[in-house]
Parts: sequence; C-alpha cells; structure tokens
Amino acid sequence: MFIHLQSTIDDAQRAGVEAAARELGVRLVALEPGAQLLEILSEGVPVPERGPVVAAFTVLPGVVEVLDRPGDQPLWSSTHRAATIVEVGGAMFGGGRASVIAGPCAVEDGAELLEIARTVQRRGATLLRGGAFKPRSSPYSFQGLGQRGLEHLKDVRESTGLGIVTEVLDPRDIESVLEVADMVQVGARNMANSSLLKELGTVDRPVLLKRGFGATVDEFLSAAEYLLCGGNTRVVLCERGIRSFDQVTRNLLDVGAIAHLREATHLPVIADPSHAAGRSDLVRAIGRAGMAAGADGLMVEVHLDPSAALSDGQQAIGPDEFEALVADAGVLCELDGRTLLTGDHQVPHPSLPNIPTHLRGTA
Ligand code: PEP
Ligand code: MN
Repeated sequence: MFIHLQSTIDDAQRAGVEAAARELGVRLVALEPGAQLLEILSEGVPVPERGPVVAAFTVLPGVVEVLDRPGDQPLWSSTHRAATIVEVGGAMFGGGRASVIAGPCAVEDGAELLEIARTVQRRGATLLRGGAFKPRSSPYSFQGLGQRGLEHLKDVRESTGLGIVTEVLDPRDIESVLEVADMVQVGARNMANSSLLKELGTVDRPVLLKRGFGATVDEFLSAAEYLLCGGNTRVVLCERGIRSFDQVTRNLLDVGAIAHLREATHLPVIADPSHAAGRSDLVRAIGRAGMAAGADGLMVEVHLDPSAALSDGQQAIGPDEFEALVADAGVLCELDGRTLLTGDHQVPHPSLPNIPTHLRGTA
C-alpha cells in the first residue's frame, strides 16, 4: 500500500504521519526523494489489515489518500513528484516560483506590440502574450493577423528579449508557431482537441494549456495527460474561468479548482483573470484571488488603448493597473513563502530549439 501526501504538507503534518506509522508498526519509504508517494512497508510484523491502515492515515492532515497500486496513477498526478518547475525565457512556474505573462489579446500592429511589450516588461512581466491566430466566437470578428502576426512577435522577441506565448489553433500551424513561440498556448476552445494535443505532446516547447469553459477539472487534467504521455513534460495549466449561470462576469474564476490542482497535480497552475472577468474593473481583484488560491502566476491582457483594441478591449487593463496587480501578486506570493519573478530577474533567453523533422513541411 502507498500513502499519497499533499504537496503542501508541512513538517508538523509529516511528523503526524510518521507517528501514525510507528503506532501501526510499519515503515514509510519515499519512492524517490521528494516524492509525494510513500510505500507502507511492514518489516518483521504481520502485514496490517487494509482497513485500519486506510483509517489511520486518511484522517491525518497532509494526506490525500491511501492507494493500493501507484502504477494506476495518471502522469499528471502529484503521486509522481512534488512539483514540476517549468522554466521559459526569464519566467519560472511552479516549485515556489511564480511569473506573469502579459500583453494584448491579439497582435494588431508591430509598433503597437513593441510598445506594449516594453511597457509590460518594465512593469514586471517576464513573458509577452499576443494571439496571431484568434479563436473568435463569431466568424465575422477579427481573426488575428496570422503569419504576419507571428512575424511581429518574432521581431519583438528579438528587440526586447521577452519570451513569447502565443496560441495555436490548427495542427497545420504548429511548425510556424514554433518559429516564434517560447511557449505554445492551447486555448479554452481547443483544450479537448486531441489531434492538437497529440502533436504538441511531441514538441520540445512548453505548453500553456487553458481550461475549457465547460470542462471539469478531470477533463482538464485528461487533456494535460495527452501532452505528458507524448513526452512533453513542460505543461503549465491555466484556469481562465468557467461558464456559470451568472453573466455579471464573463466567466467564473474557479479558485477552488486552483487550490485543488495544487494538491492533485505536480504541474504548475496559473490564473487568467482577464478572460474570467471580461471587464477591466474586476481584473485586479480576480487576479489577486487567483494568486491567493495558490496560482503559480498570472496571464493578463494589457493594452495601451483598450477602447481601440480589435479583440477583448473591454477586459484589457492599462499599465498602471497592471503594475499594481503585479505588486499584489508579489505580496501574495510572499505570504506563503513563494517568489514572484519579475523583470528584474530577466535573463537573456537562448534561441529557440530546432523544430523536429516530423513537424516540418515538405515545401
Ligand atoms: C486568449 O488567451 O486570448 C484566449 C482566447 O483565451 P481563452 O482560450 O481562455 O478563451
Ligand atoms: Mn483574449
């Protein structure tokens, strides 16, 4: 049998687990250093019955569950390791490190993108976001600049040193997105697109996986499993709000899911208060809530002239509001011993890895 510990277990709780083991006459052995899964070994005494063991451990603070077989656990499970730290550009997500991704909803213009990038970089972002391919609800809305948008992102990456996060909608565009993206975004509408996930499972690039607005937490984790089982272990989850009956906000940021995911999975989890709020006046409060629930960072839509934005202008915040939210996020991290990496920690990022041959076009 095995005990699955919470990733946030503290020394006192760990001592309680050890005391319960001594009481039962068993020994607990970690499968690997720092793992959240301990094997229950009975040495020299008869194997204790399952019932009393389960009862003795599951009531203890810091214990998630008692398992019969760890091999049945999916790859996202925190039974495998305490924390995956995803490092990309000057950002780190997980293992006590948090970072902020910021930028416009869509890439609209090269000069404007550069100005936004310089602004968010000065005010604490370590990665720049911006969609070249936009998944819009209406086919008549701005769909993004496509390839031209990717070129703007590439130029801004070169002139600022900021790592780029941008969305891919179609497996056929993965190759060109990999030419510019330090981290590839899978949006809410594509969370369950298994063809896309299978392809991205084979690439050497971190993936930001956003939760579908109608997806359960288990469905969200199953989508992550597609990436992990393909061999791509650099996955960051993003809670961006789920659809609720109440339209007062665009979506409902599921802070309970963030807190749960921090226990259930070793993968980092960030919050996107912009798509949750749908209105700029609530972004700061909702971003704070995400960080307070334990998010490993934020993704925020920032625009210098929200009223002129071609998509999601109503939820974009300006530079001052953004800087205030970054400061809040830093304070909330400190409360539980985490560190928010801001522009001060910026390190020059290396060039992008080569694109694997199986994803290269024949042209
Ligand atoms: C976005 O990040 O711009 C976006 C489209 O988000 P989501 O997929 O969460 O709707
Ligand atoms: Mn958007």
